[in-house]
Amino acid sequence: MIDLKKIRAEFPIFSHHPKLVYLDNAATTHKPQSVITAISDFYQKENTNIHRGIYPLAAQTTQKYEQVRNKVAQFLNAPNSNNIVYTSGTTASTNLVAHSFLNTRLKKGDEVIISAMEHHANLIPWQMICKKNGANLSIIPMNKEGELDLVSFRKMISEKTKMVAIVHVSNSLGTVNPIEEIIEISHQKNIPVLVDAAQSVAHYPIDVQALDVDFLTFSGHKLFGPTGIGILYGKEQYLSAMHPYQFGGDMIKNVTFEETTFADVPQRFEAGTTNVAGVIGLGTAIDFVNQLDRRAIINYLNDLTLDATGKLLKINGLEIVGTAKNKSSIISFALRNIHPHDVATFLGTDHIAVRAGNHCTQPVMDYFNLPGTTRASFTIYNQPEEVDFLVEKIKEIQQFFS
Ligand code: PLP
Repeated sequence: MIDLKKIRAEFPIFSHHPKLVYLDNAATTHKPQSVITAISDFYQKENTNIHRGIYPLAAQTTQKYEQVRNKVAQFLNAPNSNNIVYTSGTTASTNLVAHSFLNTRLKKGDEVIISAMEHHANLIPWQMICKKNGANLSIIPMNKEGELDLVSFRKMISEKTKMVAIVHVSNSLGTVNPIEEIIEISHQKNIPVLVDAAQSVAHYPIDVQALDVDFLTFSGHKLFGPTGIGILYGKEQYLSAMHPYQFGGDMIKNVTFEETTFADVPQRFEAGTTNVAGVIGLGTAIDFVNQLDRRAIINYLNDLTLDATGKLLKINGLEIVGTAKNKSSIISFALRNIHPHDVATFLGTDHIAVRAGNHCTQPVMDYFNLPGTTRASFTIYNQPEEVDFLVEKIKEIQQFFS
């Protein structure tokens, strides 16, 4: 049994906002006290730069910074901490792969495959690189339930495909994609796969070696950690063949006016002063997640999402967008004749925080012919009563608009 009250009590936001019903966890999660304290302690008691100073305080910061890299590697079961690159978030991680890996390999007529449900962060970087190199961006279609059509994917993939980039859990539909199968199909043709784990990393244990994934991206702020810090996991064979695309301090071996040689992986991809406090906070967020019973959390969130789905479906005129068999704790819905922004505004007046709009997945909204949806996304500090409150308030909104 998980102690939900104890978990919730670790998040100070709820003591500052006792009425807050926070159902916007897919946008960002709140932070436990331990993470806030770690960041504050860092600035109050340590605050030095990394890889530069040799006095004790600076050496201690560098050590902590690199220890977190080990922690992230263990968290993902990466073979080595050198597989872990610090970035500013999922978006930056994807851009790094697009620019440093794909850009030099893509030729006219080549192809990158993504899916119909990608967040713009896993769409636009590939679109730009394809345009620049005369390559094509191909899209794995989905059905009305929001499930990918793998039969089409098998037919699409060819020797022209140079990269497959897929979201693990869709932020606007909640679909959990069969990434194991997608990786297997791609590897049969030796095509590397990037998995966008922004929405999955907080809820599902991820083992990059078992998955045999080539690149994996996520952001600290969706994992109870700070904003402005993210991770790119990459296989050694790919990272070591990549040329950096951002240049400056802390990423070099030797510099003259004529030539520069770069530091080893992963440091060559971390130009300039990185988000040191963010790394420290991310390490503490991973400690927080590691001490949870993750199996029990998955079961709890499945039950909560099923309960919410059942109750929402009983509301006349409410349609759930994204009804895949395998779903995470994200529910998008549309209310007949009421704009999602009105829904979110009204819910906001009752302290219910949901997201409304296209959720940075405009092509998904185009596919469903909707201006946007309202999205409720749950995590470990949400409680069953919050579902009932949401349902009650949606009914009131309907009454108001009728
Ligand atoms: N991918 C998915 C599936 C997301 O949900 C998000 C953020 O909502 C991102 C990528 C981008 O994450 P970030 O803005 O932290 O870079």
